[in-house]
Amino acid sequence: MGMLEALNGTEYPSWTLSHDGYDILTESAFESSFAVGNGFLGMRASRSVSRGPTWVSWLGYSRWASWPRCYVAGLFDVPNLEPPVPAMVPIADWSRVRITLDGKALLARDGQIRSGTRKLDMRRGLLLSSWIHCTPSGVTFEGHELRLLSLADRAIGLQLMWLTLDREGVEVEVEASFAFAGLGMEPTQLERDLGAWQLEGSGKRVAMAGHASLSLDGKILDSDRPFPLRWTWKWQSVRGQVAEFDRVVSVSRSDTPDKDPSPRARTALTRNCEIGWQGVLAAHESAWEKRWNSSEIEIEGDDESQRAMRFALYHLISAANPDDPRVSIGARALTGDAYLGHVFWDTEIYLLPFYTAVWPEVARALLMYRYNTLPEARNKAAKCGYEGALFAWESADTGVETTPDCVVGNNGETVDILTGKMEHHISADIAYAVWQYWSFTGDDDFFLNAGAEILVETARFWASRAILEPDGKRHIRHVIGPDEYHEDVDDNAFTNLMARWNIARAVEALSIVKARWPDQEQALRKKLAVGDNELAGWRDAVSRIAIGLDPQTGLYEQFSGFHQLEPIDLSQYANRSVPIDVLLGRERTQRSQVVKQADVVALIALLPKEFPQNMAEINFRYYEPLCAHGSSLSAGMHALVAARLGDTNMAMRYFHRTAATHLDLDPNGAGGVRIAGLGALWQIVILGFAGLRLKGSMLAIHPALPHNWQSLSFHVRWRGRLVAIRITEKSAEATLVAGEPMDLRVASSILALKPGAVVKALL
Ligand code: BGC
Ligand code: BGC
Repeated sequence: MGMLEALNGTEYPSWTLSHDGYDILTESAFESSFAVGNGFLGMRASRSVSRGPTWVSWLGYSRWASWPRCYVAGLFDVPNLEPPVPAMVPIADWSRVRITLDGKALLARDGQIRSGTRKLDMRRGLLLSSWIHCTPSGVTFEGHELRLLSLADRAIGLQLMWLTLDREGVEVEVEASFAFAGLGMEPTQLERDLGAWQLEGSGKRVAMAGHASLSLDGKILDSDRPFPLRWTWKWQSVRGQVAEFDRVVSVSRSDTPDKDPSPRARTALTRNCEIGWQGVLAAHESAWEKRWNSSEIEIEGDDESQRAMRFALYHLISAANPDDPRVSIGARALTGDAYLGHVFWDTEIYLLPFYTAVWPEVARALLMYRYNTLPEARNKAAKCGYEGALFAWESADTGVETTPDCVVGNNGETVDILTGKMEHHISADIAYAVWQYWSFTGDDDFFLNAGAEILVETARFWASRAILEPDGKRHIRHVIGPDEYHEDVDDNAFTNLMARWNIARAVEALSIVKARWPDQEQALRKKLAVGDNELAGWRDAVSRIAIGLDPQTGLYEQFSGFHQLEPIDLSQYANRSVPIDVLLGRERTQRSQVVKQADVVALIALLPKEFPQNMAEINFRYYEPLCAHGSSLSAGMHALVAARLGDTNMAMRYFHRTAATHLDLDPNGAGGVRIAGLGALWQIVILGFAGLRLKGSMLAIHPALPHNWQSLSFHVRWRGRLVAIRITEKSAEATLVAGEPMDLRVASSILALKPGAVVKALL
């Protein structure tokens, strides 16, 4: 394949997002949305050529016109700030290319960019750019670029460039370099093709190796190597002559100072240079194809939703690495700096359902990350005076609590952050994800060796956290629920019901293990010292935890005293341009019935059994109008619940709102894609409209499609099988693509699936 051919987008326009030009206000958000990644590496979609310096300093503070960053999962250090909080450290931006014509640097701001388009080819996992630049001296310069982070070999990045100009006799110089952000990385080794660095604080090490070549009309040109990892080529232009450039880089991380990452970077580079850029590209494309084959969701009749869905899947695939149980997915994945790469409940509640049902190897690795951080979760519980495991609200590489104690607010004042001390529901959220993963995949090996321990330790935490009081109930006081506008509350319904569920599942898990693997149950109880008294204490907690349910109305109170707060009519503030807590002020917000994000509503989605008869409807209709959607996690959860309740119009409204946050390039997207919202999009469609249930011994769907969707098709992995499902308004078809025969429940009928045969149920 010729390079220009490789640089052209796919022939399917619906698989490609396109962005023209450059706008300083949205450039940084755009760079997040079009980022490429493979779960080990992530790279923002910054321009690589002609960009010049990227900072702007104006009236004393810096603004960034562009934020070129390449991240490595798990590469954390503690920057020198107050309070000191671990942050993901970017490595060198290895995509930088400088072009000089007759001694003058070619900068985008000089002359005229006649056209400039960047495309995200989601099918092939590629960032493609094309531009035509007329320089002030009248030379017309055309360029095409491709960048990827390989899904076939996660250590690898590839850049291809095709260049031509319309003038004879111009002295052209192309320089390919690695640009450093200078963030506390001490070089430990610098060779022609390899560099290695150590982080000043954490001592972690990283190595990068590179190979680059340039050919003119097919003939390789020798490069000068003025500096490690820098290549320059010089020639005199011939009108219409084509220069083709390719660069392969490899990256490796080592978590301890005594382990040298360089040999691994070197080997990865060699094995990829051997197959050449064509080989690297082909392997990457076929890895994406394989992923799409089992992840793709097809929506007939609604192109906009289809596009939003693909975008979500593209980033969900890009964020994950099934091979590294030492890292998880941060709130902005590997696409931006916001939240410093920290991992929240977003992963377990918003992302895990997708991975569990579509890419279980990833779900397992993400849960193993939590298992590996269990020692720190035990420490945190002990430090706070509790038993068992209290996971960090914000977690980096070790699982130590990394939530900052305070941040500097917009007006320069210090704002205390209480989430790290009080947002405890995270422990139950992780237990929840463990249980769902186990029930859905049947991965007993994971459960016996890791999952059960997480369940037991979190249950143990909750039993010590829920204190018996004179009213005969056990209360969980001083917490923050998902609605972070209200801090230090008592008996948050979400927290308490999830805690009760967590303890009940631990009791159930032990009895299942006892029945199926009696020796393992003995061993587990011995290892964790779970005595009969403790088990009795858990049962007591399950029967006594306060849940704030009014049996008369069927309504849960979000937390104790919520109903007494000042009612706020949010429709009066519908046209606000700032979040409601900024508008009302923090104190008034706390005194009001205004909810930041799905809280009781999230509970309806997670624990449907706690909402029998019409209680889901009652609670949803009560809380939905009170929600100000102050977080990107919110709209998606509302859409999911609305879809389950059969209110497809409202579900679609919230679906579009979730999608728009990402596709409309709002300037707040500069910090990275809100990956939780993208996970929610998958949940709306598959758990909502298709009605897939992530539980039990039989796979089940309960479809209710939006009116304009002619059909919805997708795949699920269930207990070692791959099932293809297609839903239309009137019927559902299922095919067992791989694995043992099984039954599938479709609404009230049961279909027997056998390999290869299509079975159909009328709806
Ligand atoms: C988030 C919290 C987080 C805090 C500090 C806030 O914006 O809502 O969940 O802990 O930032 O990172
Ligand atoms: C939300 C949290 C979330 C965090 C990271 C906050 O604004 O309130 O629920 O975990 O952002 O996405």
